[in-house]
Amino acid sequence: MGFDTSGLLPLSDALQGMLAQLDGCCDSEQLPLPEALGRVLAMDIASPLSVPPFDNSAMDGYAVRLADLAGGAPLIMAGKAFAGQPYQGEWPAGHCVRIMTGAPVPAGTDAVVMQEETQADGDRITFLTTPVPGQNIRRRGEDICEGASVLAAGTRLTAREMPLLASLGIASVSVRRPLKVAIFSTGDELKPVGTPLAHGNIYDSNRYGVRAMLDRMGCDCLDLGIIPDDPAQLRAAFQKADCEADALITTGGVSVGEADFTKQLLEELGEIGFWKLAIKPGKPFAFGRLPHAWFFGLPGNPVSAMVTFDQLVQPALAKLAGQRFERPLQLKAIAAEPLKKAPGRLDFQRGILAQGQNGLEVRSTGSQDSAVFSSLSRANCYIVLERERGRVAAGETVTVEPFGGLLL
Ligand code: AMP
Ligand code: MG
Repeated sequence: MGFDTSGLLPLSDALQGMLAQLDGCCDSEQLPLPEALGRVLAMDIASPLSVPPFDNSAMDGYAVRLADLAGGAPLIMAGKAFAGQPYQGEWPAGHCVRIMTGAPVPAGTDAVVMQEETQADGDRITFLTTPVPGQNIRRRGEDICEGASVLAAGTRLTAREMPLLASLGIASVSVRRPLKVAIFSTGDELKPVGTPLAHGNIYDSNRYGVRAMLDRMGCDCLDLGIIPDDPAQLRAAFQKADCEADALITTGGVSVGEADFTKQLLEELGEIGFWKLAIKPGKPFAFGRLPHAWFFGLPGNPVSAMVTFDQLVQPALAKLAGQRFERPLQLKAIAAEPLKKAPGRLDFQRGILAQGQNGLEVRSTGSQDSAVFSSLSRANCYIVLERERGRVAAGETVTVEPFGGLLL
């Protein structure tokens, strides 16, 4: 696949290289609206109706014709219009109609005058202000015109889209089936939580991070657990994942030397590149394909695994799932303290972003070692330090990337 294994690969090249090869692989299905929450739209949605569907009042007040107000005399209330109960009666000259928010404005209405700008004396209403034409009337189609495109294919349905679709009367939508992603951790030292640790063991934490992020992305996760550094067991796990999932994500075993089993097996089973990325944390990373599934090999170090998932795997899985992916917002902030940095790699340091007296300020969460999990758990942003940049002095401007959906 033409992977560049010499030197360190810039993050943007790795991303581009992956995305160029990946294509949506999920069929679509029709789901009732409530069940479609979290799914990705398979088709563009055009509005079947206008919103609002009729001219209606934006205020509680009185519907008036401007000509009737010209003389300055009070108007007689002809009747009332409620939301859901339009005014049906006659509307003779010199009359107004009492109207509530959301009620259709009677035919001929030029404006609605809010109640607070009137004085009522029984049925005689005095108007304290002169309305302008169209005042306080929400026009038919003002929000959405019938036939207008409202949501594009690839949109993931969240609490923001659900009420919009409901407002259009859409009862079911065509969505992509969730991406099925197999995961396992590799390493003889790993033990599952809930079991005792022998000397030299550590708990497998990566699977919990990866699972949580897959969950957030709306993927179906096939968790194959912990696979020891044993070629036969690794081969079986790779084959099971390849048969049952669209993609496989593993952690550990992709760095030099110790990675030998993984590397050797993947070369036997599929077409895989082992990359050394010019990012920190997260140097070792593998990407490629098994006969039926895409493969992402994350570094074993917990912080590296999370950061490479967030930065690299997330956009790749989004593409496979047919989901439009927007790069997270990057902002400028002032470093409130010096930051250690050596030139050579793009750093994703973990920081705490806060509003300072003169704008946004960011501090480090402390040790940036890729095994130090507290650096991530206490952070709310990445401090993104350019590849060639060295140590940062307090007061310098840096780029920050507030944590996006996966890490919130
Ligand atoms: P590796 O990439 O397999 O060489 O692992 C690098 C470091 O990450 C080692 O210290 C491993 O013990 C640790 N590590 C690997 N996998 C996990 C995991 N699933 N959970 C926690 N730490 C891990
Ligand atoms: Mg290992």
